Formats: sequence, structure tokens, C-alpha cells
Amino acid sequence: MIRWIAFDADDTLWENEKYYHDGQALLAQLLAPYQPAEVVEAELLKTETSNLSWYGYGIKAFGLSMIETAIRLSDGAIGSPEIDALIRHLRSMLEQPADLLPGVLETLQLIHNGYRMMVITKGDLLDQERKLANSHLEDFFEAYEVVSDKHDNIYARILKRHNIQPKEFLMVGNSLRSDVLPVVKIGGFGVHIPHRFTWAHEVVADTSSHVDGYVQIDSIKELPAILETLKHQ
Ligand SMILES: [Mg+2]
Repeated sequence: MIRWIAFDADDTLWENEKYYHDGQALLAQLLAPYQPAEVVEAELLKTETSNLSWYGYGIKAFGLSMIETAIRLSDGAIGSPEIDALIRHLRSMLEQPADLLPGVLETLQLIHNGYRMMVITKGDLLDQERKLANSHLEDFFEAYEVVSDKHDNIYARILKRHNIQPKEFLMVGNSLRSDVLPVVKIGGFGVHIPHRFTWAHEVVADTSSHVDGYVQIDSIKELPAILETLKHQ
């Protein structure tokens, strides 16, 4: 019986990745004299991935990787006005309002009486806290866990801390890799809601070999029906 529902935040509760796409487009534009956009995109992803273990996730990490990529792909020729344009874009990302995805507020209102709820998100602590405050969703959640990464052992630790059995736990998120598969691995239930933008790092190439234990839905509005079904299992 599900007692606890955890939600991913970025691109599950509110828009996020689209601002990264805009940043990537700006970088490609600034580097157009040096390299085609496809090369910029591929190099940025490579840089971000190799920097993950040092900088973690979030806007600041993205910014450092963009600057590093710009310097490398221009052979050091990129100028300070271009670097400044990147920094200004990062600042504008930090100033974005929490733009709730369709159906989020209505769904939380519908289900919050029947379940205990928390958010589990990765990224910059300050930025994630600011977005939660801006979202006006704080009152729905008993806990707000900002973690450095979303591995199965990190989920296991959160469940232990809140005294939750895996079979009582359901996680909702847009990333199969981060929000669903590790939860299924520890014995919880996953609900995958793909977002129109998914960062290449979060894409799982082959899901056919993974065990069951999760469902995929098109919109968070379908979550109450999923919860009803699970009650009768
Ligand atoms: Mg997400």
C-alpha cells in the first residue's frame, strides 16, 4: 500500500530544461564563427558529463561547462563580451519564476489528503529552495530533499531517514534514469512522466531489459487514477 509519494522537481513540477536549451542555443550562436552547432552541442554535453563528479548538477555547473567549452572550441579566442553574455544568461536562468507544468497544482490538491508527500531533487541547493518558494507548493510537502545525485543508495537513505518501507513508496519524475529505475531497484514504485525536453545525460538507451515496477503516463493528471489502481493490488 502506497503511503508516501515523492516528486522530482525540475521538469516534473515545473519547467527547467527549456532554459538550458536556450543557454545551449546562445552558446552555439556565440561559437558560430568557430564551430557548427552540432559540434558545440556534443562538446558541451561531453564537458558537462566529465564535470559532473566535480561540480554536480545545476545552473552553476552548467555555466562553468559552457565557459570551458567556449574557450576550448574557440582555441582561446572567445572574448570577454561573449563570456559576459553567457554569465548574463545564467543569471536570467536563476531569476526565472517557477513555471508550473499543466495539471500539477490540481493533482497535488486532489491527492494530498490521502498521502504523505515529499520532493526529491538534485541541483544547486539555493536555486532549488528558491524555486520551491516561488512555486507556492511548499505546503503540500513534508520534506524537501536536495541531493547531489539520485542513485539507489541515496533513495534508500532517504527512505530510512523517514522510516518508509520501499513498498510504501512511489516516486514520480520525468527521468527514467534518475527518478524511476533506482527507486524500482530498491523495491519502490515508479511513475515516469516524460517531458518534451530531456537532457541527453538522463536518457536511458534501452529500457526493455529493465524490470517492471513502474508505469509511464503522459501527464501528471493521470496520477490519481494510477494511485487508485495501486490501492486494489
Ligand atoms: Mg527532472
